[in-house]
Amino acid sequence: MTTLQFLGAVGTVTGSRHLLTLEGKKYLIDCGLFQGVKANRLKNRAPFPVDPAEIDKILLTHAHIDHTGYLPRLVKQGYGNTIHGTHATMDLVRILLPDSAHLQEEDARWANKKQFSKHTPALPLYTGRDAEKVFPLLRGHYYGEEIFLEDDVRLKFKNAGHILGSAFLDIKRLDGPHSKKILFSGDFGHPQRPILRDPTQVYNVDYLILEATYGNRLHPDSDPDSYLTRIINESMQRGGVLIIPAFSVGRTQTLLYTIRLLEKARKIPELDIFVDSPMAIRALDIYNKHISELNLAARKKYMRGEAIFQPKYLKICASVEESKEINKVKKNAIIISASGMITGGRILHHLAERLPDKRNTVLFIGYQAEGTRGRAILEGRKNIKIHGNKVPVKAHIEEISGYSGHGDYLEMLAWLSAFNKAPEKTFLVHGEPDAVEAMADHIRQTLGWEVVIPEEGRAYELDF
Ligand SMILES: [Zn+2]
Repeated sequence: MTTLQFLGAVGTVTGSRHLLTLEGKKYLIDCGLFQGVKANRLKNRAPFPVDPAEIDKILLTHAHIDHTGYLPRLVKQGYGNTIHGTHATMDLVRILLPDSAHLQEEDARWANKKQFSKHTPALPLYTGRDAEKVFPLLRGHYYGEEIFLEDDVRLKFKNAGHILGSAFLDIKRLDGPHSKKILFSGDFGHPQRPILRDPTQVYNVDYLILEATYGNRLHPDSDPDSYLTRIINESMQRGGVLIIPAFSVGRTQTLLYTIRLLEKARKIPELDIFVDSPMAIRALDIYNKHISELNLAARKKYMRGEAIFQPKYLKICASVEESKEINKVKKNAIIISASGMITGGRILHHLAERLPDKRNTVLFIGYQAEGTRGRAILEGRKNIKIHGNKVPVKAHIEEISGYSGHGDYLEMLAWLSAFNKAPEKTFLVHGEPDAVEAMADHIRQTLGWEVVIPEEGRAYELDF
């Protein structure tokens, strides 16, 4: 019997983990950390719903922490088998997990210093050493490579266009004309973006597990570059600096690529661009190593010998000293720093410094999950809490959704509409409840397919 159990990313966009049980073997699809509202974060501390030692393999769709960030904790609890993903995903996991561990340790340190934790002493969810214990288990694969889970069940990674290395998991039972397929979308990419390729079109799927982050929304700004041009120019006229919270991997490279293009076209002045991230240099190395995964426009620039991620006055700050030096800069600069949803990292210090000044601008370019400081600022909160202190929000706030890594509901429907047949079932995950409900309605009304909104923890039987 084949079953699929949903252990996370149900009614929320974080904590992606799904358990596929196939011929008695257990495959965990993604192993994400819960982020955002406290009720979710507490789930990271709860015992894992399945004995980790009983899991046979972990298959990763992509490197984002809400899909991989629980790995060190799972290994600590006894998981010792292999972890599979694309080569780029593995390279990114090697920099993202230690960074996640660092954030966990930093949070615990702050909590102990300020004593605002109810647990004394506050303990990190995992440490850098725990993160490193994941590395020997990682196995990288090429897109399209055939990996056999069983003699007659093969797995392929197909480009999902979400971040570098992101993949749909295409799991097929090879049984002559009756072959069946399960497809996990992971995070569904946003087509026609800078740098990355579009999500791969698939045609025959029997069981689809689809994300629904933007199930109730459209990206209003089909030309995000013109929005970015306006925001950069206006923020410079305001006489302050522009702060952009962004994941160090993915969104940061999109920004550098786009800023360089805008500079070259003389649409914006050549400004000091600070990328305040100890990971940024390694992330750029990984992008340079995996050029073959980029879209045609980006690869053409590479072939011409262009340094596509290098605005003229780019400064990458690796050390804490360099990071603190940025505080002296009062105008004509852009600061890009993580985390993208302001849940931790160096961006906290920049916002504590810059938010109280109305000359500054904060620009959000990614999805802000419920319960995060990013969402609170976007919803117009007058104060936010950073490291236990109240910080007034006086800076100018802007948002661009067009650089999002996720396709909106129309883009997802367009992709689904190219399928040869309706899947037997489509399970919707990775969305807040309104988004999932809306996406289910869109699919039922437009395509007439059977859609299931799974319950957390419940195992569904698949005819596979
Ligand atoms: Zn993602």
